[in-house]
Amino acid sequence: MLKDTDPLAAMTETLHRQRAAFLRDGPPTRTERRRDLRRLRAIVLEHRCAIEQAIDADFGHRSRHETDLMELVGVVQAIDYLTRNLHRFMRTEKRHVSLIYQGGRAHVTYQPKGVIGVMAPWNYPFSLVMIPLATAIAAGNRVMIKPSETTPRTSALIRMMLAEAFGDEKVAVVLGGPDVGAAFSRLPFDHLLFTGSTSVGRHIMAAASENLVPVTLELGGKSPVVVARGHVSDNAMNSIVFGKLSNAGQTCVAPDYALVHENDLEAFITSWDRAVTRSYPDGPTSADYSSIVNDHHYTRLTGLIDEARQRGGRVIEVGARPDAARKRTLTPTLVIGAEDDLAVMKEEIFGPILPVRTYRTMDDAIDFINARPRPLALYYFGARDADCARLLARTTSGNVGINNTMIHVAQDDLPFGGIGASGIGAYHGIEGFRTMSHARGVFIQSRWNLPALLRAPFGRLADIALR
Ligand code: NAD
Repeated sequence: MLKDTDPLAAMTETLHRQRAAFLRDGPPTRTERRRDLRRLRAIVLEHRCAIEQAIDADFGHRSRHETDLMELVGVVQAIDYLTRNLHRFMRTEKRHVSLIYQGGRAHVTYQPKGVIGVMAPWNYPFSLVMIPLATAIAAGNRVMIKPSETTPRTSALIRMMLAEAFGDEKVAVVLGGPDVGAAFSRLPFDHLLFTGSTSVGRHIMAAASENLVPVTLELGGKSPVVVARGHVSDNAMNSIVFGKLSNAGQTCVAPDYALVHENDLEAFITSWDRAVTRSYPDGPTSADYSSIVNDHHYTRLTGLIDEARQRGGRVIEVGARPDAARKRTLTPTLVIGAEDDLAVMKEEIFGPILPVRTYRTMDDAIDFINARPRPLALYYFGARDADCARLLARTTSGNVGINNTMIHVAQDDLPFGGIGASGIGAYHGIEGFRTMSHARGVFIQSRWNLPALLRAPFGRLADIALR
């Protein structure tokens, strides 16, 4: 476990020890990696109650069912997926040998990079540490983790669990806020995976570049949901509400705003009302409705609603007003016709507020999306028709969900990541394993092939290749 007295010195010392241990022991075998993944799985299940309680306390309210479904199931599923596919991922890949070098052999091996740094946000404070950790372990690395200071109980629990299970030569956890994060991002890791906001991501990339540390940046942004003309339905709305209100909207891939055909606006509002009431019958005091994580974010979110109201926006709240016994609950809120210059249309919302804009043609919707930074997720509800094909072909986003929201994240075999302002690189799937591995190309000379003759004087060698 890292000492907190001098975080930078302690982190640097731990990194050196991890790297020395990595060089001393060599890359772990498949059996060793499997054993570590099994250990990780076991401690997650062993501490299930403590994890649920820590997150509930950190948020003010988050039901254990929501934590189980949105975090623990995903972690266990990811560990199982990595364990099952380790053999395939670790396999040496034969590659084609160029014509004039025939006789030789070429292959790629996936080596562990060494020591991976993992920085995590607060919104899913457990899974966004554990899934990168499991991936790094599967790829044979040592890992240093900086969880979020906004969820201190969960972060402390993670540190205790991992210290018990692995010891800090293999997995170390350092606690602290932005200044510790800044020092952490300056360490000469072999790879740094950061999950957090786009603005902090910029600092992380700049700091990592000082040591040429490769980065994966899992960032945020405004993910649109497009509802095709005539496709407002209970099914669609259940899924939109699931994406928007799970964890009270504090989800990187939550639909941030909706684009609805101008003829369907009133149907959308009625359907949203019904779906919210169905999922959260006691309004924001329903058991599975989470609190906003802290006062700062609560004030920020109420500020977004107040500004929209003051500017004459149509603001529709569904459900009973929050009760004082439950901390920081924010009523699910639609903002209809929000202007572009409102903060709710400019900033990532990260809360249970859904601005709704109307469009006339699918091309209008496409132009609206393309006029903004590339989103982490794009959702489409409708038939798989020409409009759908056009929307997908003419926009870019980290991932896509068709007739669902957020479920792509639970597909372990799909890469998960953003593009542009929503991120760089990806993990999950084989892409995650490869992100944390070095693809090392190897060429093996045969006695007979051309490279044996590749020396001066060159004579007419090139003539043979250029025929
Ligand atoms: P954040 O960027 O504020 O913090 C993330 C991490 O960086 C934390 O560990 C924090 O301590 C550290 N940090 C904060 N300021 C720092 C600084 N100046 N220098 C170095 N480190 C610093 O993000 P957050 O508020 O914890 O999380 C919310 C954001 O994360 C949202 O934008 C959300 O979309 C994004 N997010 C993205 C994903 C994804 O997978 N793409 C998942 C979850 C959250």
